Formats: sequence, C-alpha cells, structure tokens
Amino acid sequence: MDIMYTSTRNAGEKATASQAILKGLAENGGLFVPERIPTLDIDPDTLAQMTYQETAYEVMSRFFTDFTEEELKTCIANAYDAKFDTAEIAPLVHAGDAWYLELFHGPTIAFKDMALSILPHLLITAARKNQVRNEIVILTATSGDTGKAALAGFADVPGTKIIVFYPKHGVSPIQEKQMVTQKGDNTFVVGINGNFDQAQSGVKKMFSDAAFAKELDAAGYQFSSANSINIGRLVPQIVYYVYAYARLYAKGEIQKGEKINVVVPTGNFGNILAAFYAKNMGLPIAELICASNENKVLCDFFATGTYDKNRPFILTSSPSMDILISSNLERLIYRLTGSDAARNAAYMESLAANGAYTVTPEMKAGLSDFYGNFADETETAQQIQTLYRETGYITDTHTAVAAAVYAKYKADTKDTDTKAVIASTASPFKFTRSVMEAVDREAYHAMTDFELADELGRLAKTELPQAIEEIRSAAVRHDTVCEPEEMERAVRTFLKLR
Ligand SMILES: *Cc1c(COP(=O)(O)O)cnc(C)c1O
Repeated sequence: MDIMYTSTRNAGEKATASQAILKGLAENGGLFVPERIPTLDIDPDTLAQMTYQETAYEVMSRFFTDFTEEELKTCIANAYDAKFDTAEIAPLVHAGDAWYLELFHGPTIAFKDMALSILPHLLITAARKNQVRNEIVILTATSGDTGKAALAGFADVPGTKIIVFYPKHGVSPIQEKQMVTQKGDNTFVVGINGNFDQAQSGVKKMFSDAAFAKELDAAGYQFSSANSINIGRLVPQIVYYVYAYARLYAKGEIQKGEKINVVVPTGNFGNILAAFYAKNMGLPIAELICASNENKVLCDFFATGTYDKNRPFILTSSPSMDILISSNLERLIYRLTGSDAARNAAYMESLAANGAYTVTPEMKAGLSDFYGNFADETETAQQIQTLYRETGYITDTHTAVAAAVYAKYKADTKDTDTKAVIASTASPFKFTRSVMEAVDREAYHAMTDFELADELGRLAKTELPQAIEEIRSAAVRHDTVCEPEEMERAVRTFLKLR
C-alpha cells in the first residue's frame, strides 16, 4: 500500500514520497511526515544475511512507495559504493561496555554522509518522476557537518546548485577548511556572522517566502533542502539502526527479539528520530537515549515537558550539536498530539513567538521511550581520555557526549544488562584538536592541526582518512562572509537575480 506524506502543520497538505523529497519543507514551515510508519516484516535471520545496500532497499522501499524497485536500487548502488572506505559501510565496533556504530566511513567522515550520499540521487529521480524542469537549488544551513556532506554529494550534479550557510565562528578549523575548499562550479559556501540557529532561521524564511519562490520559478529555479528536515534524509538514517541490530544478532550477541538500547548524540533531533521510527517499524529497541552537550534544551524538555530555547547559546567542542532549535522534534511533537496538525502548529507558533512551549501531561507521558541527559565539556573530555586509556579506542567529541550520557543512564537506571549501540557520528580526525587535547593537553596543545592529525593516526593505529589528506594542501575557493540579515542577498547574487 502506498504511503503518503502530510504536513505537521496542515492536515490538508499531502504529497507522495517523491514530491515530499523534492519540496524538502512543507508549506507554512511544516515538515513532511509519513501518514503511517510501515512495519519491518522481515525475520532477523534473513536480515542477518543482508548487506548494507540490501538492508537499505528493504527499509527505503517501505517508505518511498512511489519509487520503482529499479529507481531505488540504482540510488542505493550509487550512494553506498567505494566512496565509503569499508564495504560494511557502517561497522559496529565493541569498546568498553558498548557497541559503537561507526557512521563516519563516508567521504566527509561524519554521519551526515549516510543520508547525503543518497539524497542527490533521490532528488534527481524525484525531479524526473515529477516532470520538474527547473534547476534545483539546495539551500542548506549547517552546524558544520551537513554542509560539507551536502557539498560533496551535490558538487557537479547536473541540474542542481548548492548553497551552504555556516556559522563563521562556530565550526572546527577542519570543518571550515573542508567547506571553503569545496570544488564544483555549482557550489557556493557562505560564512555568517551568527550562530547555527540564525543560519537555519534564515534558510527557513527563504523557503517559506512565496513571492521569492515565484521569482525563482520565473528564473528557472526552485529550492529544495538537504537539511534533516527533508524526509529524504531521515529515512536513509533508519537503515543503519536496522543494520546494527542485524549485525548484533548475526554475531550472536543478542537473541532473536532481544531489545537493545540506542544512544544518540543529538542536535537537530534527526538521527534519534530515525531510531524512533525504526522502533516504530518494530525493531526491538528498548530505550532511546538522547545525549546533549551543554546546549541541553532537549534534556530539559524530557525532564520537564517544557521546551525552552531562551538561554545562552554555548559554543562547545561538539559544534554539530550546538543547537537550541531542534527542528526534527516537531515530528515527534506532532505524533504526540495524535497527528493533530492544528495543535502542533500552535506549539510551533509559541516557539517562534516566545521561544518556548509546554506539552500536556498526556503528551509528556508519551515520551517514555526516551531518556535524556547531557555531558558538559569536562565530562566529554574525560570520557575520551578514559576510553582511550582503558581500551585504546578513540572517539570524537560528539560520540564522547553520547558515551558519557550512557554512563549516566546506567548509573541512574541500573539498566546494565541491555546491550547498547552508540551512534558514533564523526571520525575523531574531524575534531582532532579537541580530541587530542582531551587525551593529553600538555603534550598536544602546541601542535598544528595537521601535526595533531598525524599524531592521532599514530595513537589510534589507523591511517589518516582521505578526507584529511585532501584538505592538507587544497586551495580556498569560498571566502564570502555576511550578516544573518544578508543571507537572501547572498543567494540572489549567486543565482544572478536582482
Ligand atoms: C549532525 C551531527 C550530530 C547531530 O545529529 P542530529 O541529527 O542533528 O541530532 C551529532 N554529531 C555529529 C558529528 C553531527 O555531524
């Protein structure tokens, strides 16, 4: 049966999967959600035999029902290929008391590659299916990792242009270098003198501007989004939770049907929402452990039922989680209202107007699938150091936030028997300085970033990822910087509009 998509803010707005992927964002700022979550009716013994690509087909075909088998299989084959440095695509590594699901083996060494290596293919296919003639302009706000992954995915893809806004002073030096050296004539990278939330708000504003859309259409363009608000990014992220479960089962680590815990370092709430969707498909997941850094707006929300972004924005060593407006939470809120678009829209209006909303006690009770907590900067660094000393395994800062929160979860709940999978969202090479200073500040704080990368390779006994070698000597190609208010102007200039 076909699955249709509807807007979280307007029950009247409906789209097929391909239309939802093309549009990115629904009208009035709403997000597309599937009208129902399909069931994963596959025996674990069958799943255990499947490759990553085969698993991807099983999951995606249940959501993207208007794509043909051939279309989806082609998208999957083009996405999960030798761009990844391991045939497993997402290996599961045991260290300490948990399984680390390494989602950073793609071209830009962060988990955004898991979805952004397939999104361009889904989008081009969706455009073809819907007779779109306009050039597609991908407009993206990034806290560091989405930007590069989207640029890598869309660079030189015919029929597309990509524009990325990042917080000029809110990303790691390696992240910035990765973006500003991006090749491809259809790419445009802009630093803004503001934070991620301002970049995201600016992008959302352009998306919802009907007059601007008309003007773009006349010029032969239309916007789409590579942010995790695009359903075409969310669904591919469900795949690796299913795959991880199947791998644990294949290794004999869990019995058939045995529940696991999943720990996710969270910012925009996309990755953990994908795990929640996996659970709702029937994957045996017990607790969804939501890990925040010092920007712990989600942790407070789970504790109190009040979402309140009125607080200082803190720059941390896990910049991809420095977010106070977690866009994808809206999809969960919508579900908690019983798919009531009008009620959800009221909460989102309150968020826009007052920076806060409080859910009802019944809705709060519906959050019992989740456990939220946070790790501060000291705890995060300590976590990296301790795991390295005890096991030799080195995680990045985001993954360390998750691991530190997992330790708090166990202490709080005494749930030490359930096997845990920690989403390992970035390679430590992407956040080399923070990681190496966590291991030994004295020894490393005077080294340059590339010296640190070489030293990290030695400690972790791994070769440097291609992504790091590439930027060592690459030339800067993008140096545009603007104020948050000037984002639309920057877009107009790049697209040669008035
Ligand atoms: C984007 C990102 C996150 C946060 O993921 P969300 O889907 O936004 O919650 C965590 N870690 C890293 C390394 C990221 O790039």
